[in-house]
Amino acid sequence: MKLNNFINGAWQEDNGADFAPVLNPANGQELAKVRLSTKEDVDGAVAAAKSAQRQWALVPAPKRADYLYEIGRLMKEKKEHLSRVLTKEMGKVIEEARGEVQEGIDMAYYMAGEGRRLVGETVPSELQNKFAMSVRAPIGVVGLITPWNFPVAIATWKSFPALVAGNTFVWKPASETPMMAYEMALIFEEAGLPAGVANIVFGTGAEVGTALIEHPDVRVISFTGSTETGRRVAELGGRHLKKVSLEMGGKNAVIVMDDADLELAVEGILWSAFGTAGQRCTACSRVIVHKDVKEELEQKLLASMEGLTIGDGLDETVKIGPVINRQALEKITRYIAIGQEEGAKLLAGGKVAVEGDLSEGHYMEPTLFTDVKWDSRLAQEEIFGPVVSLITVADLDEAIEVNNSVKYGLSSSIFSQDVNKIFRAQRDLDTGIVYVNAGTTGAEIHLPFGGTKGTGNGHRDSGVAALDVFTEWKSVYVDFSGKLQRAQIDTE
Ligand code: NAD
Repeated sequence: MKLNNFINGAWQEDNGADFAPVLNPANGQELAKVRLSTKEDVDGAVAAAKSAQRQWALVPAPKRADYLYEIGRLMKEKKEHLSRVLTKEMGKVIEEARGEVQEGIDMAYYMAGEGRRLVGETVPSELQNKFAMSVRAPIGVVGLITPWNFPVAIATWKSFPALVAGNTFVWKPASETPMMAYEMALIFEEAGLPAGVANIVFGTGAEVGTALIEHPDVRVISFTGSTETGRRVAELGGRHLKKVSLEMGGKNAVIVMDDADLELAVEGILWSAFGTAGQRCTACSRVIVHKDVKEELEQKLLASMEGLTIGDGLDETVKIGPVINRQALEKITRYIAIGQEEGAKLLAGGKVAVEGDLSEGHYMEPTLFTDVKWDSRLAQEEIFGPVVSLITVADLDEAIEVNNSVKYGLSSSIFSQDVNKIFRAQRDLDTGIVYVNAGTTGAEIHLPFGGTKGTGNGHRDSGVAALDVFTEWKSVYVDFSGKLQRAQIDTE
């Protein structure tokens, strides 16, 4: 199977292009070959998006929304198929893949609803017989660059608000997960989106991503990925005066206070630390625990971790699938060595899992460190694997300080039964998302998603806030006095 670009409503021919293999991280088998596109391919896609945009923007928003309802319906109809493709190319266990596809369906219906809102303001003018309002205007052609860990959900967070607001887009999916983008292109085609409204160009970040950011007709870049890449995207985008929305890395923590329901905390930690093999941007990679419950929590965590089966995510009984590729496995292994050199105590895991069939794929044992220093590399840097570090603190103030000590600010959580502690924490934790008595993952699509500090640059995906990325505010003044009225001057 060859994955070619979807440009101007049609599938590109091979035309002598280079292709790279797409591999199943669970067993190394080749699933497809994906096109390594060039700058010329990007130019073609942007030209198609540009020529379709004016007409698309003139389609009334509730009618644009009808396409999203249809896309949502098709995603729902194909949910099991999409979920299985997602598990095969990305590795997350099938239950989570179904959850991710559902997130895309929810986003389709939610943003379709925005087609009948896209709310602006009407406000009184300071002058008589004058009307003032602000409206959301589409921006034009937008470029979407997405990571491999949520190959569908993140693309829907970006593309659906872009479409409902009257933009057209060119989407560059991650090289590791092009099959979900291919599946989405089939859905866009089947939903009858006009040619050029949705375009997909496969290829590397260096070639396709750069060409997209540098293209003069692309007005917005919405990027999700690592902080390192995001910085490069922002620098290049800044040079070209692009509006750049960045969602980047995380180093998220669960705080467990001495009055917490420890059974519940263990469930929350396990789900958010080891789900998706720790490769969620919101994954819990630090547990900040009150000294009085540290040992009990360690024992409970260790006991529960024994039930975490590792294997191919298509097996319904498996809890931890593979990590994305060999480089990821090597990076995680390096961090485990760093942790030990730094004096952290390894309580469980720490090894590449190779028993039986596992040696064919990229599997990491769920890993638990304790006595981790809050300022060590293990506790400060994003590892992106199933590795959790326990850090002991004396009270809530110290817990919040430790939580806020990292350069990222995506998600945090607190387990406590004390309303006073909970409200102080939700106020003082400096992350874009805070959970109370739940782990660090589990965002719902109708709330803003994103983070502070090194995680973002002030924009949000998802929720109504996503519309801010893909629209310009236009202020409209209508003077019906029949005479020249000067604001701030003709005040009598
Ligand atoms: P990555 O930064 O390697 O790649 C992300 C995307 O950028 C890919 O499509 C890649 O091809 C492209 N890219 C790479 N170099 C580029 C360049 N020079 N110019 C333009 N585009 C370029 O990230 P990844 O490994 O795919 O994803 C994992 C990272 O994403 C983690 O750091 C994770 O925390 C982060 N993430 C953040 C969120 C969030 O919402 N905050 C969500 C999911 C993942």
